[in-house]
Amino acid sequence: MSVFLHVDMDAFFASIEQAVNPRLKGKPLVVGSRGKRMHTVVCAASYAAKALGIHSGMSSREAFLICPNLEFVKADQAKYIWTSERILEILQGYGFPLSYASIDEFQMELFGKVNPLDLGRIIKERIYADFNITASVGIAESRILAKLASKLDKPDGLSLIDASNFKDVLSRTCLDELPGMGGKTGAGLIKTGLKTCWDLYLNLPGFFKEDDKNPGKSDEGPKSVGHSYTLPDARTNPQVILAWIRLLSEMVSSRLRRQGLAGFTVAVRLAGPLIGDFCLQKTYKTPTNDGYEIYKRAVQISSKIASKTPRIRLIGITCSGLSFNAYLNPLFKEDARREGLLRALDSINNRYGDGSIYPAVTALAR
Ligand SMILES: [Mg+2]
Repeated sequence: MSVFLHVDMDAFFASIEQAVNPRLKGKPLVVGSRGKRMHTVVCAASYAAKALGIHSGMSSREAFLICPNLEFVKADQAKYIWTSERILEILQGYGFPLSYASIDEFQMELFGKVNPLDLGRIIKERIYADFNITASVGIAESRILAKLASKLDKPDGLSLIDASNFKDVLSRTCLDELPGMGGKTGAGLIKTGLKTCWDLYLNLPGFFKEDDKNPGKSDEGPKSVGHSYTLPDARTNPQVILAWIRLLSEMVSSRLRRQGLAGFTVAVRLAGPLIGDFCLQKTYKTPTNDGYEIYKRAVQISSKIASKTPRIRLIGITCSGLSFNAYLNPLFKEDARREGLLRALDSINNRYGDGSIYPAVTALAR
């Protein structure tokens, strides 16, 4: 039987800013979605800021009222993506099936003779040594429990949920603290009168078990490449949502190109309090691994989901129907020009680290 190890970076964006600029270490710090310190939204808060009651999703004005000496940094997505992809590479080096749960969360499926706690400790030390930021690691027999375990002792935690503490942990965890319990699922469950995860377990024991239809297989190559991001609060601003779609499309495209793949199918997942959780996909005649093309396809697909501007909390972009094709044969002159651009972009990113070059529009995201 396999065991899952969930790695969740602590206050990821804020911690990276503190690692880059040690003057900010230990201080209350917020990362703002835009550079206007009094007119933006907190998209990440350091632990010192969290301790004062400052949290992501709050207006920066409100945060400065709580703490007038608050340190402020404008979000720099390219830096966060770069770090995220380096962490992914480190984790891939351990040779277990691995998936991206979000920009700062990774799940690894362990089997064989490895000691999960030892490996968790090694991973935490490696991340700290390389990036000067901390991660919390959770270990359990299913993905959902491993994720829950990663939250038990944050920051810099290492926790295990097993038979000895299963009932205890579930009894003191309210349903709304459970990952993925936002929106309709959570509201539906809470209406049933269930309060804690233990209540849920008694009614639906399979909920916390791993679906054995989906055992990890590392030797087949990926069936899909995707990225998603949960915004700190639901957004209606189409500019912000489009910028996130573009950013996620660029992340997907750079991973596809690195693996020499292109995808025929693009899937868009959008979730929010009013629309629930939607996923639509479309298969095209030509495969692509161009971030702008994935973005255009994603926008076309998502226009079917949302004609107006619903509040969006989660955005996901996935490419599937993969074929081996690093750079596609350009049919048209315009495509040839873009292919040249992509090659140049990849060589710069390969040389100087990913995220050196990203389209300017992605800076708008959050
Ligand atoms: Mg995190």
